[in-house]
Parts: sequence; C-alpha cells; structure tokens
Amino acid sequence: MASTKTHHASGVAAGLLAAAIVVKAGAGGAYYVLAIITWLAGSLGGTAPDWLEVAWWRRKKKRGAQRLWIAHRTITHWGIAWVALLYFSHKNLGSAWWACAVFGFAAGGIMHLLTDWPNPLGVPWIFRRHSLGLWRSGHLEWMVTLLSWGLCAVLADALIFDSVYAMKFIRFVPQFVASQCSILKT
Ligand SMILES: [Zn+2]
Repeated sequence: MASTKTHHASGVAAGLLAAAIVVKAGAGGAYYVLAIITWLAGSLGGTAPDWLEVAWWRRKKKRGAQRLWIAHRTITHWGIAWVALLYFSHKNLGSAWWACAVFGFAAGGIMHLLTDWPNPLGVPWIFRRHSLGLWRSGHLEWMVTLLSWGLCAVLADALIFDSVYAMKFIRFVPQFVASQCSILKT
C-alpha cells in the first residue's frame, strides 16, 4: 500500500475537489461550512479503506502490527461500494446536510483506491483485484501525491474557472521551454 502519509495527502486533494463540486452544486451552505465539512471528510476518507479493516477491539500483534478483521484490500477497498456511495451522496447534495460529508468521504475513498491501484497487490474495483503493476509499495510516493494533486487541480479548475488556469499553464510551458532554449543558445 501506499503509505498513510501519501493517502492522507491525496485524500486532502480529493476533499478539495469534492468541496469544489459541492460549491458548484450550490450546496456549500452558509459561510461554506458544508464545503469545509466535505473537505475534512475527504481527508478522512483518503485513509479510510485501510483503517476500516483494522480490528481495533483486538489487541495488537507482538511486533505492534495491527490485527485486521478481514483480509487486507478486500471489502473496504471494493470500488463498486465507494462509487455507489459517491453517486448516492451526490444525488442528495442540497437536500440532506449529511450528503456533503458522505460525498467528501467517498471522494477520499476513491482516491485511496486510485493510489493503491498501481502497486502489485492491486484493488478489487469490481470483483477480483486488479493491479496496474507500475511500482512497488512505498516507491514513487512523491509521484502519487503529485499526480493526485495535479488531477484534482485540473478538475477543480475546469469546474469552477472553466479551465482558465490549465490553459495558462499549457501556454506557459512551451514559452518557458523556448526561453530556456534561447538562453542556452546565447
Ligand atoms: Zn489501502
């Protein structure tokens, strides 16, 4: 699994994106309280699939390892359940106050599955576990964090600012490369 730190960081990004969606749907509430709750729930959801499988009522193993009540990366990492949670909470945005919290939590959970997906154990999106087989656990954690934040930033930008910032960035990169090349030539 990706480390808890990485899951936390990508969960915060997913929470921000979920909060942007809640605001866009006009369900941010007075003083954006519900949007803030969405964001906090997102960061909680980012680590949820792992802490939901811990049997906290049982004593830890000898070397301090947690005991699990189910096998690692099974039901708490089930893609269909998280997507269903996201779908139904999104449907209830604006009509039930709790929907935004569930929505943020589900967004964080899905981000968790996405960050677990590249390493060999994989994630049971539908039935059997599937892995992208890109890198081992604990490797390229910075890349996972960068990709999750990049993805959420691009989507939030598209949602709220009609991709103004993404377009600026796209225009900036070739200009920057060209300027660097001209410096190198001189
Ligand atoms: Zn996990």
